Amino acid sequence: MTRLVVVGNGMAGARLVSEVRARDRHVTVTVFGAETWQPYNRVLLSNVVAGTMTPDQVRLLDPAWYADHSVTALPGVEVTSIDRETQAVITAGGRREPYDVLVLATGSQAVVPRVPGAAGAVAFRTLDDCRTILEAAATARRAVVVGGGLLGVEAARGLAGRGLPVTLLHLAGHLMNRQLDAEAGLVLGETLAGLGVEIRTGVVVEEILGDGVRLIGGETVEADLVVLACGVRPVTGLARDAGLEVARGIVVDDEMRTDDPSIFAIGECAEHDGTVYGLVAPAWEQAAVVADIVTGTDKTSRYRGSRMVTRLKARSVELAAMGETHLTEDDAEVVRFSHRAAGTYRKLVIRDGRLVGAILLGATAAVGNLTQLFDRGGPLPGDRAGLLFPGLSGSAVAESPVRMPDAAKVCQCNNVTKGQIRACWESGARDVEAVAAATRATTGCGGCRDAVEGIVGWLCEQEGVSA
Ligand SMILES: Cc1cc2nc3c(=O)[nH]c(=O)nc-3n(C[C@H](O)[C@H](O)[C@H](O)COP(=O)(O)OP(=O)(O)OC[C@H]3O[C@@H](n4cnc5c(N)ncnc54)[C@H](O)[C@@H]3O)c2cc1C
Repeated sequence: MTRLVVVGNGMAGARLVSEVRARDRHVTVTVFGAETWQPYNRVLLSNVVAGTMTPDQVRLLDPAWYADHSVTALPGVEVTSIDRETQAVITAGGRREPYDVLVLATGSQAVVPRVPGAAGAVAFRTLDDCRTILEAAATARRAVVVGGGLLGVEAARGLAGRGLPVTLLHLAGHLMNRQLDAEAGLVLGETLAGLGVEIRTGVVVEEILGDGVRLIGGETVEADLVVLACGVRPVTGLARDAGLEVARGIVVDDEMRTDDPSIFAIGECAEHDGTVYGLVAPAWEQAAVVADIVTGTDKTSRYRGSRMVTRLKARSVELAAMGETHLTEDDAEVVRFSHRAAGTYRKLVIRDGRLVGAILLGATAAVGNLTQLFDRGGPLPGDRAGLLFPGLSGSAVAESPVRMPDAAKVCQCNNVTKGQIRACWESGARDVEAVAAATRATTGCGGCRDAVEGIVGWLCEQEGVSA
């Protein structure tokens, strides 16, 4: 019987284990997790900070699931080394666990800037971090969030939503500079300012003090809670110490195998074809590939890379960005609509008649359709305005479930198409919960819930019409 050992019980590790059990009950599975919590949906932590979800609501698998599926899960147990010679992992407590196949799913850790006083601030990566932030927020009078990327924006919006005055400090000239062009960053900043977040861009933190943050230049921003959202770094120490090839992440091939054929790596710790992904959809796709291979269900299964779509989860701020958003008219065909007073910015980047990038800020009705066009890389309809404004009369493409092809991907995180939702409905699912239970659609970031609801509602209506 194959002995599978998984190191890391986060979003990738937990998914791998459930994918393996969905295919096979004969593999012996042991999963080590350094966090004391049962696995949870990290993507939804911003909702926990914002107070719209509780820690219980973000749990992925519970102890009963492990018992029912004969999986040994060891929360709060860190693996400290790999003995590749005898094929075993060793834990901090000295436990030795032999493996035939080892999967590293060690994820990332938050980057803590090297400035004096940084130890007095809270990072934003784990459920424990959320607890610390919420405890401090309960009595704090002012908060500072350092880092204006996706996580920093979500944290700042969440804290402001709790009524806490927040200043968001960002090194670059505009917010979310990796995903957004300068104008979108500006519009986002104005929207957040309207929601109670003070935005400071182009500033460098010199020191974190007991009562605030000192910037280079000498200015002090007062705060009794400082949250760090300064990026993440893949956790690769175990792999490096074991002599595996590591670049930015643990280097893997299309099977997600490292340079040791018995060891795989998935999720944010893995580097595939030069890319380390920071999103959950690639991690879950990679987990499915490894499950296929390890259980022998499909030995030809391969991971070919993912196209990244980012959606912000912040109340009253609609934002989606994908692909090469920074290109200008010099490099590509660009279609742009900007209405700063309304907090709206939309941009399409088109090359050779295909969508290679998009930003939708302020209203994301078009996002499902644009994501599908971006994903499939097919030729775009000539009616560009109709793409940006799906409701326009005579527009070539509408967001309606009626027009959506069956191959259209509705849930990005779980790779679920409209056709799969239809099939699920045909076998009896009549609401979003039933579709989610059968297909996992909506259980990642939750951004597709309205679309799934729309499809299920439309199918139910059709049934009523034809009955
Ligand atoms: C606040 C927040 C919001 C996010 N929003 C989005 C979003 O909207 N969309 C999106 O796609 N992604 C989002 N992400 C990113 C997403 O959460 C990650 O891509 C995903 O969690 C990666 O899964 P992973 O299993 O690789 O890593 P993780 O989920 O970090 O899990 C790794 C686990 O391995 C454990 N571990 C590490 N080393 C060891 C060891 N030696 N022994 C035992 N255990 C170990 C760690 O403790 C951790 O529990 C967000 C992340 C955060 C923090």
